[in-house]
Amino acid sequence: MKDMQYISTRGLTEPIGFQRSVMTGLARDGGLLLPQSIPTAAASLAGWAALSYTELAFEIMRLYVDLPDAKLKALIDRSYAAFRHPDVAPVVPVGDVFVLELFHGPTLAFKDIALQFLGNLFSDILEQTGEKLNIVAATSGDTGSAAIHGVRGRPRIHIFVMHPHRRVSPLQERQMTSVLDPNVFNIAVNGSFDDCQGIMKRLFSDLPFKDRYALGAVNSVNWARVLSQIVYYFYAAFRVMEKTGAGQVQFAVPTGNFGDILAGYIAWRMGLPISRLILATNENDILSRFFNTGVYSLGQVVPTLSPSMDIQVASNFERYLYYRLHEDAAALRETMELFGATGSLSVPLNENGRVDDLIAAGAVNTAQTLDVIRRYHAEHGYLLDPHTAVGVFVGERHLSSSSPTICLATAHPAKFGQAIRDATGQDLGHHEILDRLLDAPTRCEVLPADEQAIRDFVSNRAL
Ligand SMILES: *Cc1c(COP(=O)(O)O)cnc(C)c1O
Repeated sequence: MKDMQYISTRGLTEPIGFQRSVMTGLARDGGLLLPQSIPTAAASLAGWAALSYTELAFEIMRLYVDLPDAKLKALIDRSYAAFRHPDVAPVVPVGDVFVLELFHGPTLAFKDIALQFLGNLFSDILEQTGEKLNIVAATSGDTGSAAIHGVRGRPRIHIFVMHPHRRVSPLQERQMTSVLDPNVFNIAVNGSFDDCQGIMKRLFSDLPFKDRYALGAVNSVNWARVLSQIVYYFYAAFRVMEKTGAGQVQFAVPTGNFGDILAGYIAWRMGLPISRLILATNENDILSRFFNTGVYSLGQVVPTLSPSMDIQVASNFERYLYYRLHEDAAALRETMELFGATGSLSVPLNENGRVDDLIAAGAVNTAQTLDVIRRYHAEHGYLLDPHTAVGVFVGERHLSSSSPTICLATAHPAKFGQAIRDATGQDLGHHEILDRLLDAPTRCEVLPADEQAIRDFVSNRAL
């Protein structure tokens, strides 16, 4: 049990422990929480290489948390017992790359890896403190269902999930609204995802409301989510290095909010031999533009085949920027204020004309996404979901003879059956869990995109 303290990227709050940082979500100065220092794992790598997924998760997480070892171990075992594959996150060779399958959890998306753990962690902390928690979340699809499945049926927790009415896929909607546990409240908001997110942010920034109803966050600003994702970078690197004899690996990561790739960046800072992180976006390319030009400037969100990456302002980007600005909280505050005022910020390029020698980036359009799905199915008999396909496309552009490429597979193809049909001409994307949803009963409240209406709904049903 370590005494790691967490600090805000904006530098205006006192350091707090792990459990408090999990319950707080966003720091009270508006910044994001980070460990005061990143522990080095270089000396542990050899000893960790043969561990199982859950054993490895224990060794990594114990460096960051203030929980007794036995409790952490039980928490991890419980969280990953819900996965349908014994390796939790298996690595599969496909063509010239390795695919890291992160979709074997209850909702078939990589967010289960973090949200199963976070659900159990919330419960443990609340049981110990006797407190309660009202989770408020906004989702464009995957986060909502993974969060609901992470906390359904748990005492001391209510969860309110807003999604834009009729603007998430019917399947994603059913994954949420078919959960009938009395602690789960689905809200279909008559508006866009940005409306939902805007209302959520305003509720959280109303500190008296936040405190009175003990509001909790499950989006990727919560450090526990990033922490649980660090594990699979180590796990996959060990599998691939053992198989190929390589001394390093590179990862291709389909990216939206920068939470997944940030975990890879932290793994690299811990000393995992990652030669390159390959960031892949869809047409919503603010992050790939940033890593290629140094300028981070807002565009319009356009809908794509990979809706979980249809994002312009990436909520975890601030954590990366903090390191890029040499952990200077004052410089970060100034940069974020400028971004808030103008919708744009920039960093100087290095001597190689790059933002960061570790991070390569590219954007992928719809035709290219469909083509990768078609090609991998035709040539390798392997189905990629459209998010994974975006990562594989950019990953293939950066193949290296000395460093095998691991592509993160973030969703099961059956979640995006229409894209699979469009790409292959065949109805191949199915999974029994999803097929069963078709005639499941559902429960959901439709509300206007109005802050007061949501506020009333939450306060009338909060614990
Ligand atoms: C959330 C999500 C992503 C993007 O992950 P970030 O952490 O937001 O970068 C990619 N693919 C799928 C399927 C997702 O659900």
